[in-house]
Amino acid sequence: MNIILLGPQGSGKGTQAALLNARVGVVQVASGDVLRAAIQSASPLGLKAKSYYDVGELVPDELVIGLLIEAIDQVPAGTDVLLDGFPRTVAQARALDAALAERGSTIDKVVELRLPLDVAKERLSGRLVCRTCGAVYNERTRPPRVPRVCDIDGGPLYQRADDYPEAIEKRLKIWERENDALVGYYESRGILERVDAQGSPEDVSRDLLAIFAPSDASA
Ligand code: AMP
Repeated sequence: MNIILLGPQGSGKGTQAALLNARVGVVQVASGDVLRAAIQSASPLGLKAKSYYDVGELVPDELVIGLLIEAIDQVPAGTDVLLDGFPRTVAQARALDAALAERGSTIDKVVELRLPLDVAKERLSGRLVCRTCGAVYNERTRPPRVPRVCDIDGGPLYQRADDYPEAIEKRLKIWERENDALVGYYESRGILERVDAQGSPEDVSRDLLAIFAPSDASA
């Protein structure tokens, strides 16, 4: 099954992907992670992407599409894939559909995590991420047991380069601009579901499991 999680930054897509991975083995492909790896490798594509990434702009479709299709191709055949952060535009959604069709595959379900933008802003401004395992915390609402240290593997926690107020504003504005068309694209195909993302990660995860793996949801 191929799944897409939509929702504003801060709606918990990464957290939910990790929970779903633990419960039903679905593998997350997160465009932000793919781009950060490309930027860190200082490849020509990564260097081009960095100038957009650092200021919270969308990286141009022609860079993102190639990188993400490559990342999806690396997932072993037969594994369930969860896409997080990609597609972000209808052009990306169309390119993804075309690439999957060439591989005899398709998107099976799309879930929009719904969250008011003021809550998203609040979550992003306190967000801390583990440098080694990627676990996500929040200074105020979900702090680690030891300040700036990951509960899971003891890795150092850091604030992302694009989680500062101006970039957060810009990213959420862009999200608002693109989201309706993207949601409409999948809604018209009858594969869109909506989940309220304001609850605790556990509550949201239960709602997602009820969609993706109904037999596991009550377990
Ligand atoms: P994220 O981790 O999903 O919040 O993404 C961080 C940043 O990576 C965004 O602000 C964009 O600069 C870039 N990015 C991630 N996914 C995409 C995408 N699908 N299209 C364009 N840019 C993206």
